[in-house]
Amino acid sequence: MKAVVFYEHGGPEVLQYVTDFSEPVLGPDDVRIRVRATALNRLDLFVRQGIPTLKLPLPHILGSDVAGEIDKVGDNVRDLEEGERVVVNPGLTCGECEYCIQGEDPLCVDYKILGEHVNGGYAEHVVVPARNVARLPTDFPYEAAAAAPLVYMTAWRLLITKAKVKPGEDVLILGAGSGVSTAAVQIAKLAGCTVFVTSSSDEKLQKARGIGADVLVNYKEMPWSKAVWELTGKRGVDVVIDHAGASTLKDSMRSLRKGGRLLVPGATTGPMAELDLRYLYWRQISIIGSTMGTQKEFEDAMKLVFMGRLKPVVDRVFPLEEARAAHGRLEKQEQFGKIVLRVD
Ligand SMILES: [Zn+2]
Repeated sequence: MKAVVFYEHGGPEVLQYVTDFSEPVLGPDDVRIRVRATALNRLDLFVRQGIPTLKLPLPHILGSDVAGEIDKVGDNVRDLEEGERVVVNPGLTCGECEYCIQGEDPLCVDYKILGEHVNGGYAEHVVVPARNVARLPTDFPYEAAAAAPLVYMTAWRLLITKAKVKPGEDVLILGAGSGVSTAAVQIAKLAGCTVFVTSSSDEKLQKARGIGADVLVNYKEMPWSKAVWELTGKRGVDVVIDHAGASTLKDSMRSLRKGGRLLVPGATTGPMAELDLRYLYWRQISIIGSTMGTQKEFEDAMKLVFMGRLKPVVDRVFPLEEARAAHGRLEKQEQFGKIVLRVD
């Protein structure tokens, strides 16, 4: 089959487009999908570069977000048929551990992400457990569907499940252009919050306004925590979503109101951050970690995507063959929203 694979870790140049990669093996509880679109995530860059704690058999196929049509079903699969158009929840669980039984999928002791721990969607075909797929409404475009799962389920869990945001609350989202940010802006807006976003690019801020952001903070002009402090009348915001980590945590703490919640879904600028404990106890701030989402959170978010209440932001679509160029764009953070690969 056609696929983009890598045989060694490194920069975008290690990605190779091949046409003779062996087909994935279908298990009894799986479906095989003819991939039509797959979206990039920052995770792809980390996996391609090599994650020190992740021993990955090579060659490997990236791609967590997949949309396409089912072209084979496993023997035990009763409720899905060949030809059905679907989108995939990229979180793979054991279904049996204490956390799975609680319905806390991303805490599964054997949690895996499609395209990270197992071969993903940068290919003509991918095999996934049947329980991970959701049917697409008729005519829902594959590119928009592929742009949705990982970032919407992640942002949904962050804002709705973990932060429990309420109408009227102020939510600050760092980095307007990332996929999770564009999803979070829309979800916070839908929940009735006032949405603050930061960026060094006025163009990205304007695009964020276009999808619902209310207050735009360009940190080239003024340190953003200072700007947020002024804009909220020295009260601070209720919730901050900070996926940057090392470079921003201090300012995120400063931007929160008393009793505020700091949500941490990642640490793209580095894992070790300084924490001023005086802010933590005096302002009685909660720091909440979160990653990915449950099948329920995936379905809740996708339902609103399918209804058009949440609209995946597709930055650009590249053909699969141009995966290297797509990675280059994501690496330079030129994108606003999701970069998608089309698989013809
Ligand atoms: Zn489990």
